[in-house]
Amino acid sequence: MNIALIAHDSKKELMVQFCIAYCGILSRHTLCATGTTGKMVSEATGLSITRYMSGAQGGDQQISARIACDEIDLLLFFRDPMASKASEPNENDMLRLCDMRNIPIATNIATAEVLIHGLERGDLDWRNIVNPRN
Ligand code: PGA
Repeated sequence: MNIALIAHDSKKELMVQFCIAYCGILSRHTLCATGTTGKMVSEATGLSITRYMSGAQGGDQQISARIACDEIDLLLFFRDPMASKASEPNENDMLRLCDMRNIPIATNIATAEVLIHGLERGDLDWRNIVNPRN
């Protein structure tokens, strides 16, 4: 499966800890991320991650384009609910595209835990029918 990782600044350390905890599962999938999130996670875990631009520079739009093409199977997007960002319209559009494509999204660690266990159990295997390349 293709998994995209994005974390706002105040959630980056949480994303790193999450990826350390689930490194074994994540290593069996293809990962991509916005610039800084990807750098921090790959340095902490050794996971191989395709890194796009930083969120503010269009990295979330690069991931959105892949979502629109149905090339992402799971989005882990740890948002800071207290921060209002210039990139918010782009982020909202990314979530809209996920809903159009029925792509599972976690915007907080509680949902991410559920999805990662579901991923491991095979609950997302129906995505292989949508995307035979997985
Ligand atoms: P970043 O982008 O991983 O490059 O920081 C995410 C964000 O918009 O904060």
